[in-house]
Amino acid sequence: MSIEIRNLRKTFGEFDVLKDLSLTVESGELLALLGPSGCGKTTLLRIIAGLETADAGQVLFHGEDATQRPVSERQVGFVFQHYALFRHMSVFDNVAFGLSVRPRASRPAKADIRERVMRLLKLVQLDWLADAYPDQLSGGQRQRIALARSLAVEPRVLLLDEPFGALDAKVRKDLRRWLRQLHDDIHLTSVFVTHDQEEALEVSDRVVVMNRGVIEQVGRPEEIYEHPASPFVTQFLGDVNLFHGRVGANHVEIGDYAHPLDGQAPAGKGEASVYIRPHDLEISREAGQALATGTIEHIHSVGPIVRVELRRQGSGELIDAALTRDDYQQLRLALGDTVYVRP
Ligand code: ATP
Repeated sequence: MSIEIRNLRKTFGEFDVLKDLSLTVESGELLALLGPSGCGKTTLLRIIAGLETADAGQVLFHGEDATQRPVSERQVGFVFQHYALFRHMSVFDNVAFGLSVRPRASRPAKADIRERVMRLLKLVQLDWLADAYPDQLSGGQRQRIALARSLAVEPRVLLLDEPFGALDAKVRKDLRRWLRQLHDDIHLTSVFVTHDQEEALEVSDRVVVMNRGVIEQVGRPEEIYEHPASPFVTQFLGDVNLFHGRVGANHVEIGDYAHPLDGQAPAGKGEASVYIRPHDLEISREAGQALATGTIEHIHSVGPIVRVELRRQGSGELIDAALTRDDYQQLRLALGDTVYVRP
């Protein structure tokens, strides 16, 4: 089921949390809402769910206006950061809960509930824990059970609010892959809130980058990463170096390096901000045609990538470069060396 959000506005007191926000979630896609703390992600998710009302705008489910529809009629499933499992109930009963509390007329027969719960527990690969209690589970297992429980009532949309936020880094990584796999199996329209860029890029079909109540960019993970639409997106998506350049007729000059514009029309003449990621920088001992000259201040050499931090001559800014171990060893870099930086 698709979700369309039209011109949504939400104010808390004096504070505009969502400012005229429009967005479409395609049927069957896994969409990440990514942005810093306080940018309005959770508020948007709660409005989609019907847990919060908007001041203006509409939410359409499958083309139908659902703005005034109560939560109970929206057929949405939720998973929150803090597992909301009932501690006094077994895993089986937790997953069965949404079905067993239905009015008699719409409640499936006991055998059908059993069949459905066991199918879901298999789907989240925890059927062997059906008789366990939440206290006996790890954090990651609890979140998988919470997910199975939200799926039991056959929602048309799944909403996940920082579902792995409380887990440690390793479990988080495993669960991301697992969620992606699960989504590929069930193709349920899902909206996933996170402030972790790596998580958003790895898990989702498309990413919505939010900042202060507005959408900065919507796109597939590689589009967002390779072609960020604004300085905010560039910086939010990971480490990046800022260089100040000057725009010429068909090139941008940074230091004594000239980058051809290859027919791309510059936005205007004059100053330009040029963002370059650490792994797109090259370090050399040869002078000339360089973006900058720097002195090595720090070398962090763990794993296949070596991070080198340079103090830039002139401005004193720091430049962060990421080299492969081979390049690093060939250059024989040492603290205090003066080197040249190129893209
Ligand atoms: P986080 O990642 O920290 O959860 P978020 O992007 O999900 O952030 P929201 O939870 O949507 O952000 O909150 C956006 C802003 O609205 C915040 O400044 C928050 O303090 C404010 N806010 C949220 N809910 C309420 C409320 N019920 N009353 C007043 N202010 C609120």
